[in-house]
Amino acid sequence: MEAPLLEVKDVTKSYFENGKEFKVLDLIRFELAERDFVCVVGPSGCGKSTLLRIIVGLEPPTSGQVLFEGSPIRADNPQVAMVFQSFALFPWLTVTQNVELGLEAQGISPEDRHGRARKFIDAVGLTGFENAFPRELSGGMKQRVGLARALAIEPLLLCMDEPFSSLDPLTAQNLRDEILQLWANPDLPPKAVLMVTHSIEEAVYLADRVIVLSSRPGHMVAELEIDLPRPRNRKEPEFYGWIDEIYSLIV
Ligand code: ADP
Repeated sequence: MEAPLLEVKDVTKSYFENGKEFKVLDLIRFELAERDFVCVVGPSGCGKSTLLRIIVGLEPPTSGQVLFEGSPIRADNPQVAMVFQSFALFPWLTVTQNVELGLEAQGISPEDRHGRARKFIDAVGLTGFENAFPRELSGGMKQRVGLARALAIEPLLLCMDEPFSSLDPLTAQNLRDEILQLWANPDLPPKAVLMVTHSIEEAVYLADRVIVLSSRPGHMVAELEIDLPRPRNRKEPEFYGWIDEIYSLIV
C-alpha cells in the first residue's frame, strides 16, 4: 500500500528555558492524502505556526515524527511549498524574480523558469505586473506573488500559515475564493493543501477537513469532515452549525 502524502505522528514540542520545560504541542497526529484540503484551527498561541514549521522541516519535533511520502521530512524538499502571513517577498526583486526564486534554487533553466513564472503569475491574476517591485503592490497582490512563488515549484503539498490574516476582509475573501478556484483545477499543483488559521469561519469556508487544536499545550480536540458542498454559503444554518460546533470545542 502506498504511504499517505503526509503523516504527522505523535508530534510533541517543548521549549526549554532555564531548565524549565514549556510544552507547546502535545501528541499531534493526523494524515493528509492527495486531494485533501485541511485546515488546522485553534486560538492564537496554541502552537499552529510551530506545528507548521515542524511539518515543513524547519524545526525538529521534541518527539514524534513527520513523514512525507513515507520518509522523514526535510526542509529542502522541493515537493513542499510554503506561503507565509508576512508574504516574505524580497523587496529588491521584481514580481517575476520573486516567483522564480525557488526555481533557480532547483537548478531549472532560465527559459523554463520564465515559462513557469509566467504561467503562475497569470494563474494568480498578476499578468501585467511582472516587472513591478513589492513596494508598488497592495497587500493582496503581494500575497498573490507569495502564492505564485509557492505554486511555481509545482509542489505536491502547499502549506499556508495564516495567509489572509494581514489582509483587509474584502481582499482576504477574494483571495480565498481564488485559492478555491485554483484548487478546483486538478491540472494545477498542489495535490494537497494544509493551512493553519485562527479563524474558524475561514477553516469552515475552505477545508474538507478541520483539525481543531486547543491550548496549553496545543493538542487535538477533534478532526471534522466538513461535508458542505462548494461554493459554501456563510449565511446557511449548516455553515453556522459547523462554526458553533468548532467554537464549543475550543472554549
Ligand atoms: P500560534 O501560531 O498558534 O499563534 P505559535 O506556534 O506561534 O502559536 O506559538 C505557540 C507557543 O509557543 C507560544 O506560547 C509561543 O510563545 C511559544 N514559542 C514559539 N516559538 C518559540 C521559541 N522559539 N521559543 C520559545 N517559545 C516559543
